[in-house]
Amino acid sequence: MLLEAADFHCPWCGEPNGIELEPGDAGQTLIQDCQVCCRPIELTLSASDGELVRVAREGE
Ligand SMILES: [Zn+2]
Repeated sequence: MLLEAADFHCPWCGEPNGIELEPGDAGQTLIQDCQVCCRPIELTLSASDGELVRVAREGE
């Protein structure tokens, strides 16, 4: 399995962001700063098709 790119929208500003996922990342939660507004986004990585990433506002 190769790296997989996932797109998501920032829960703060709504701008599109992207992340590259590694096979071992499924099921993990990580924090990535929005590429636009730089606020922290909590990403929950899913192995299921269709929804690779769920996003939440970090700290809420
Ligand atoms: Zn943002």
